[in-house]
Amino acid sequence: MSEVSIFDKIIAKEIPADIVYEDDWVLAFNDINPQAPVHVLVIPKAKIPGFSSLADQEAVQVGEFIKRISQVANKLGLDPDGYRVVFNQGKHGQQSVNYIHAHILGGKQLSWPPG
Ligand code: 5GP
Repeated sequence: MSEVSIFDKIIAKEIPADIVYEDDWVLAFNDINPQAPVHVLVIPKAKIPGFSSLADQEAVQVGEFIKRISQVANKLGLDPDGYRVVFNQGKHGQQSVNYIHAHILGGKQLSWPPG
């Protein structure tokens, strides 16, 4: 049994979040410390601890999650100019919350490479 993370509490509506999209598969909400004009986190309702664990998931779960990330980015109006989707994994990836989350970053010209 994995630890209860802040995102477990957001899913359970025990703590508030600025929700931009929700359905049976995912919850998407604004990051509390945005790194771009648009910075939204997308998390699956069925908990997955991190990107590494996607390898153990049913294809339908992975597919519906990735599909929703694309849908949320489109709904946010980011598609014409582009945007970035980031999964931080583990220590070297600087993952700070052990509940998988896609960062959608956009609304400005982003730089590359990341640090
Ligand atoms: P990580 O570093 O794990 O990839 O990203 C975690 C993200 O969650 C960070 O960008 C951080 O700002 C965000 N975050 C942490 N706690 C909260 C919270 O309570 N509410 C919201 N909306 N975002 C949070």
